[in-house]
Amino acid sequence: MTAPETVDVLVVGAGFAGMRALHALRGQGMSVVVLEAGDDVGGVWYWNRYPGARCDVESYDYSYSFSEELEQEWRWNERFAAQPEILRYAQHVADHFGLRRDIVFGQQMTSATYDEQAARWTVTTHTGRVWDAQFLVMAVGNLSATKAPDIAGLDIFAGRVFHTARWPHEPVDLTGLRVGVIGTGSSGAQLIPIVAQQTAHLTVFQRSANFSIPACNGPVSDERDAEVKAAYAERRAIAQNSPSGLGFMPDRASAAAADPEERRARFEQAWAGAGFGFLFTYHDLLLDEASNATAAEFCREKIAAIVKDPRTRELLTPHGFPFGGKRPSVDSGYFETFNRDNVMLVDLRATPIRDVTPTSLRTTDAEYPLDVLILATGFDAFTGALLRPDITGRGGHSLREAWSTGPRTYLGLGVAGFPNLFVIAGPGSPSLLSNVLLSIEHHVDWLAVLLRTAVADGIVEIEATEEAQDRWVEHVNRRAQETLYPRAPSYYMGDDLPGKPRVFMPYSGGVRDYRRILEQVERDGYEGFALRRSLLGETVPVR
Ligand code: NAP
Repeated sequence: MTAPETVDVLVVGAGFAGMRALHALRGQGMSVVVLEAGDDVGGVWYWNRYPGARCDVESYDYSYSFSEELEQEWRWNERFAAQPEILRYAQHVADHFGLRRDIVFGQQMTSATYDEQAARWTVTTHTGRVWDAQFLVMAVGNLSATKAPDIAGLDIFAGRVFHTARWPHEPVDLTGLRVGVIGTGSSGAQLIPIVAQQTAHLTVFQRSANFSIPACNGPVSDERDAEVKAAYAERRAIAQNSPSGLGFMPDRASAAAADPEERRARFEQAWAGAGFGFLFTYHDLLLDEASNATAAEFCREKIAAIVKDPRTRELLTPHGFPFGGKRPSVDSGYFETFNRDNVMLVDLRATPIRDVTPTSLRTTDAEYPLDVLILATGFDAFTGALLRPDITGRGGHSLREAWSTGPRTYLGLGVAGFPNLFVIAGPGSPSLLSNVLLSIEHHVDWLAVLLRTAVADGIVEIEATEEAQDRWVEHVNRRAQETLYPRAPSYYMGDDLPGKPRVFMPYSGGVRDYRRILEQVERDGYEGFALRRSLLGETVPVR
């Protein structure tokens, strides 16, 4: 172990959250270092390089709002930017704001231990480097800890195995190969149409069918670019005041009560251009079962009209959970791909995977010869990246113990028993139910004011109280129960891993309500946080 390097703030992760935290906190005179496991900035966009990877939030909204200069100078090429363009944007931001000088790449945090006496964190990485920091900001992302299925024989497969979220940096040539894809979530839905065009044969192994909306992607014209940039501030304001931070303002009418012809016209219009916004056609699609059924049925009819083979059509048609309860995919030609002669769909519900041999994947009733296997099997969402390192707080208690029944936070930002630790867009905040870029900026700005105020006031320790955290967890649960989300098996509910506690993790009350809550907490002198000063080596409460 090396001697600790001392900083005011240690940020973990150089994705969009970590970069933004570095810029904001450094700008108010604190010494800040960011630890990043990868070799470059970009986070999720650094790792997820699979063919077809792109954002399904519009580029103009999935971008930083803190610098007007940046907004005006960056030129997006596509309505929904693909991974290389988003990564270039992240790199541009890093260069433009000189962020790299305070980012240490190739450092995976392995542990963080709180020293109650000193009110500081000691953080170690896999290389043995150690940092000593007053504040620890976890900017690790909700979808960064990858999940590979536990399949017998996977290690003896003679061909190459890829996970979508750990795709190689070199080009992968799939020409003429027999490729298998496991997983049909958003990553699979984006990858499958592209891979189908490259391979000799593609076998898609599907456990659950999911809803998917066409992206309606396209290039951004100069006129469009100028139009957006001329009114960017208004666009940002609309996004901030929309429930999801995406700028869609749902019709306040009930879908179930709407005139059927009018409703169909609304759905057709949204299907033909809104992308993810289809989910916000009516305000009650995720609140009312009958309203939800109208959208679900519309989507099923669309699938029926696209997919030609009746058996494949039936398998691709989702049933048994509310539309949007599990995140719908946004695709470019996903269902159409199954009309190709070189694409086959295997139903893992009827015939589960038995094992992998050196040359094939075997289900309970057939063997599929393969040269390449792609795992589009997703993530240990929300908590995975926070619970993999050993984080030890007050009294030697670990975060894993504290969250053994599911994540418990105050506002999705602080955790009782873990003073001076903050999570950006953590569980209990709008996070994955929102335009996460907007939510990241909101958290960072709020946190920057809190830390600035605290430091100016001689505060050395900031900790969410148990009472405030209990109240917040209850509130998050209550808001979730008002919705249809808990009725779907999804990673929102912890269904992504066997044995994971089944609780709803993001805050479903919307970004606007959430922002008002944070504003109120700030006005009330950071109500719900215990603030302590240092006195003769002891930390004493301020109130
Ligand atoms: P995901 O939505 O969790 O999908 C994982 C897929 O793998 C599901 O179809 C799942 O089936 C299947 N699977 C998992 N374990 C399996 C097993 N043991 N055997 C067979 N099948 C298995 O993961 P993702 O597709 O990577 O997407 C995750 C999230 O990342 C998205 O919801 C989205 O938030 C984000 N994302 C966004 C974009 C974008 O911006 N456009 C693109 C990609 C990803 P079950 O459903 O049965 O569990």
